[in-house]
Amino acid sequence: MSRKDPRASANRRPLRLTVLGATGSVGASTLDVVALHPGRYSVFALSARHSVDALLALCQRHRPRVAVLSGFTEDAALRRRFAESGCGSELLFGERALEQIAADAECDVVMAAIVGAAGLASTLAAAMAGKRVLLANKEALVMAGPLFMRAAREAGAELLPIDSEHNAVFQCLPHGAGATSAPKGVRRVMLTASGGPFRTLPLERLVDVTPDQACAHPNWVMGRKISVDSATMMNKGLEVIEARWLFDIDPARIEVLIHPQSIVHSLVEYIDGSVIAQLSNPDMRIPIAHALGFPDRIESGVSPLDLGAIGQLSFERPDLRRFPCLGHAYRALDAGGTAPAILNAANEVAVEAFLDGRVGFTAIPEIVEAVLSKVRSAKFSALAGVIEADAAGRQAARDRVARAMGRAA
Ligand code: MG
Repeated sequence: MSRKDPRASANRRPLRLTVLGATGSVGASTLDVVALHPGRYSVFALSARHSVDALLALCQRHRPRVAVLSGFTEDAALRRRFAESGCGSELLFGERALEQIAADAECDVVMAAIVGAAGLASTLAAAMAGKRVLLANKEALVMAGPLFMRAAREAGAELLPIDSEHNAVFQCLPHGAGATSAPKGVRRVMLTASGGPFRTLPLERLVDVTPDQACAHPNWVMGRKISVDSATMMNKGLEVIEARWLFDIDPARIEVLIHPQSIVHSLVEYIDGSVIAQLSNPDMRIPIAHALGFPDRIESGVSPLDLGAIGQLSFERPDLRRFPCLGHAYRALDAGGTAPAILNAANEVAVEAFLDGRVGFTAIPEIVEAVLSKVRSAKFSALAGVIEADAAGRQAARDRVARAMGRAA
């Protein structure tokens, strides 16, 4: 994978940026970093699903050429509202418009920050168009890892991980290695996890935890879905799958380590016994600034790390009785084919049901496990196979949710 600066061929003109998922927390942090560097970046396109007001406010501030509301079909009243605001952005509607702004010839860099399977097609479109892709959407790798990596390789796309752990691993790998090439001399990759808000809760009390408790993450401010995934550690399971494809590393050499302070974001161990870690305050603007500036270093706006004030960094191994989702993710990776897509689909449905108060917290791993053993994994060579598995996983999970609610009623 080349390490070219996309600006080198363009007389250092501003890099033109598309932010897919601009109103989410990673999207907002991206635009915060961009605002620190006027002249270095220009915003080409922004997208949101349903958050009309938030998208309009961003358009007035950043003046993108194009704005996309992917959760709407053509809507004359919304079109008028954007036009009358004076933001100057052309408004497009629907999911296909995401692929359009991801692949547009007028964009250099795509921040892929749509959460969930909804971000898969547009992230893949950016890779197939050979863009520099700042990869915050996990699902492109979780659901379609081999397909996505092949598309990126063939199109010469440059992948820069935004997930803090993968960004940390990328920073710890030898210069010039990293995403898309098997790292030489690496013995193990250790992904750290905070352990979430229930790391020390007595196991028998997990059954009673509420969505608000699950979303109260001790260190990171994140969206609700990923907060629940962090509490179950499914997030870390998905990240193991991500790392397997991103760094072309055998799953047996990817370990998970609980580190409650969230200061060490991941570590790479070499065959000589050296371990290299990346440390920082837990703030997504750091991996975002790293990837936006790469190979340069640019200001992120985050306050310096004060290790003297933090005092102690601690580590422990995860307990799979507390975090069964982590084991399910390793098993899905072992099973191969569409199993990770099925795992992801079941988890999305289960988490949504939990957030809506339809099932309890401990039902999440139960639903995932049941769906993984019911829906058979298959080999796939195109996105259609993955989408099909996703749909089958979702249906089986919805059946499970309905059954769990029936039992509770
Ligand atoms: Mg992460």
